Amino acid sequence: MPARTDNVRDPELVAALLMMRRGQAYWARKLNELHDDEFDGPSRVPGWTRRQLIAHVGFHARALARLVEWARTGVERRMYDSPEQRAEEIDFGATLPTEALRNLCAHAAVHLNVEWRDLPEASWRSEVRTAGGRLVPATETVWMRTREVWIHAVDLDNGGRVTDFPPELVDALLEDLVRVWRWKIRVGDRDVILEPVDRAQRHRVQIEGDRGDPLIVRGTAADLVTWGTGRGDKNVSTPEGDRPPPAPGWP
Ligand code: ZN
Repeated sequence: MPARTDNVRDPELVAALLMMRRGQAYWARKLNELHDDEFDGPSRVPGWTRRQLIAHVGFHARALARLVEWARTGVERRMYDSPEQRAEEIDFGATLPTEALRNLCAHAAVHLNVEWRDLPEASWRSEVRTAGGRLVPATETVWMRTREVWIHAVDLDNGGRVTDFPPELVDALLEDLVRVWRWKIRVGDRDVILEPVDRAQRHRVQIEGDRGDPLIVRGTAADLVTWGTGRGDKNVSTPEGDRPPPAPGWP
């Protein structure tokens, strides 16, 4: 019989699952607060209406559930067949009646949670492939969902703010930004240093062969996450007091 609770004892993974579930609850709350007639409005993701964003968050849960299923069965599954298929799916989902769209999102999240719950402890180390092509342990799917639900709750643009996030999540997002930029920024590009004014530690991307004039951006940790994830540059500045250029892409 499948377990009714997670098969995990690793305290780090237990904490990660908790943070993901808090994020799922935060996303669901912001979505519940949204009236049906507000679905057609723009989201904070450039080019996407709220409908497209909501469809994306639902289909993202389905895509991750396929990866967790792969970890459980050993039979390879993909997150998405192609970028085109992913985009078509989102556009289709956006045409659904609001109630159906709400249900799609809620059911997909429940299904993903069941996949995680039933994953045997040993299978959490099995490798799966992200949409970007990287092989990662199945444990990574928890973080992939965590950052998605929290940040996209802000993208619904009905009151969600990074300043609402738990401090340990803000710290994890700062580390994720630097981690992602390390893959994305090319050798010789300008280095980036994040200097949170409310934290002891600063975060440096450390580009190999950088030009020697790193872009230093200061602000609270939450405001740096907002800038770094491309969600606005309020309250962040360079040491000279200038507005920083747009952050490198994330995720
Ligand atoms: Zn997303």
